[in-house]
Amino acid sequence: MKRAVYPGSFDPVTFGHIDIIRRSADLVDELVVGVLQNNNKNPLFSVQERVNILLDVTKDMKNVRVEAFSGLSIDFVKKCDAQFLVRGLRAITDFDYELQMAQTNRIMSRDIDTIFLTTSLEYAYLSSSTVKEVAYYGGDISKFVPKEVVRAISQKLNIQKKSD
Ligand code: ADP
Repeated sequence: MKRAVYPGSFDPVTFGHIDIIRRSADLVDELVVGVLQNNNKNPLFSVQERVNILLDVTKDMKNVRVEAFSGLSIDFVKKCDAQFLVRGLRAITDFDYELQMAQTNRIMSRDIDTIFLTTSLEYAYLSSSTVKEVAYYGGDISKFVPKEVVRAISQKLNIQKKSD
């Protein structure tokens, strides 16, 4: 059984992430999308909210599972009994950090390989933080994220603005 883990913050998931999920799921028998509980990044969505959105947008992908995790990605990959860790590369600016992480992970666990998928060109500019910024200032984010996320962000920002 070939299994891979795609770990990330997914705060929120974008079409760029979904493209990587779809393409990496085609390479393996099972793909686990690992949603990092990263309290120090001060996420817009709680880990459970991010998991729920991902479950919704991947419901048609039969070999994709979604799980929350905390701690090191490589430990989560081991816990899932997976052989591969998937990361997406958008631009050369991602490369330095990703290469360093992959090499560190390789030393920590010789049995696990990192697979990099380069972004599809139409999503090369796309990041969760840009999406949040555009949404915050009332811009249309429907070209960047699925409708489930458009809905969830607008609800979240309405609640935030009411409590300000
Ligand atoms: P992290 O905090 O782990 O970087 P992200 O949710 O920002 O979490 O990203 C998870 C992974 O998805 C990373 O490997 C990142 O490079 C990749 N990624 C993010 N946006 C895109 C995109 N538009 N196209 C391809 N890969 C992407």
